[in-house]
Amino acid sequence: MKTYKMSKERFPEFIDIIKSKGKLFGPVKQKEQHSFEEIDEFSQLDFDYQRTQIALKKYLTPPRYKTMHFTKDTIEEILPEDEKNIVIGAHPCDIHGVNILDRLFLGNIQDPYYAKRRENLIIIGHSCFPDDKCFCHSTGTDMVDDGFDLFLTSLNGYYLVWVGTDEGLDLAIAAEDLLEEDINDEIIQDYVIWQQIRSQKFRSDVPYFKYLADIMDLNYDSEVWKQFGDKCLSCGTCSLVCPTCNCFNVDDKIKMSAEEGIRERMLDSCMLPYYSLVAGGHDFRPSRTDRIKLYYTHKLKEYIGKWGQPSCVGCGRCVEYCPVEINALTVAEALYGEVGQTKEVLDF
Ligand code: SF4
Ligand code: SF4
Repeated sequence: MKTYKMSKERFPEFIDIIKSKGKLFGPVKQKEQHSFEEIDEFSQLDFDYQRTQIALKKYLTPPRYKTMHFTKDTIEEILPEDEKNIVIGAHPCDIHGVNILDRLFLGNIQDPYYAKRRENLIIIGHSCFPDDKCFCHSTGTDMVDDGFDLFLTSLNGYYLVWVGTDEGLDLAIAAEDLLEEDINDEIIQDYVIWQQIRSQKFRSDVPYFKYLADIMDLNYDSEVWKQFGDKCLSCGTCSLVCPTCNCFNVDDKIKMSAEEGIRERMLDSCMLPYYSLVAGGHDFRPSRTDRIKLYYTHKLKEYIGKWGQPSCVGCGRCVEYCPVEINALTVAEALYGEVGQTKEVLDF
């Protein structure tokens, strides 16, 4: 991977060059929260943040959009506009979140709406330090090797600029007057120290995450699910904020004349009542307990079976935003506790 050094003093110039290539978005502080917003000038950016409320999925699977216009005789697909969106400041966990969405939407059967948006999305990552809600260390998503075009590691007065794709290289070439190619021993030393300091800052570690798929199997009928089900408000916030949740619903809006209509796609959540209600009136998951069990077994067990990693990237959003403290950490800890108790009474 090609790597450069860029002085932080020249960063505003870098932003001007990047901005000339497309619509630029980055982390902006709004009251006590950060969100990815369109950037007009460098001073709006604030990289001192842990997580935005909504992740990069808002650029790839917007909450609601039109997919088709139809009449009695015609069908016209409505693809997203061909416009470059550049997001700067994405953390490793969020880039892993995009990699997970890529697997789902760009696999054997490509989703044309997602594919068009992804083709037009340039991701410039930025290094971060964790808070007490981050556990990407345990999900193996604290560092990232692919899924970004450029990645900036913030070191002592300068950035290490990693190039991830040809498109990233084109940006680096456009900014070549700002970049130095000489990666000397001093820079490598700075990077190693940065790595060590960062790794010591992780407070929420889940050492048993790698056994979680088995633990979930053992706990399939555990009382823990009911306890969480009794607490859950079915608000769907966990799905909305999770960078890898991507369920959607489809709605046809037909004019009174019945001559034409549009089809829309909108985000949905398996945590909401009626999500699993099908024609004929049967609801596959009528209770909150059923829905929580599906949500977390899908994220922390089934996805590992298919792809070898959970579809949880340890971003801590569910930890921060669930109003009743149901999240990947509390669920994993409660299930592990169940198995732990079983172990004590076994005679090995
Ligand atoms: S787990 Fe929490 S965030 Fe998710 S639906 Fe239940 S109450 Fe809402
Ligand atoms: S389950 Fe929670 S911690 Fe994991 S990716 Fe989703 S929001 Fe982040």
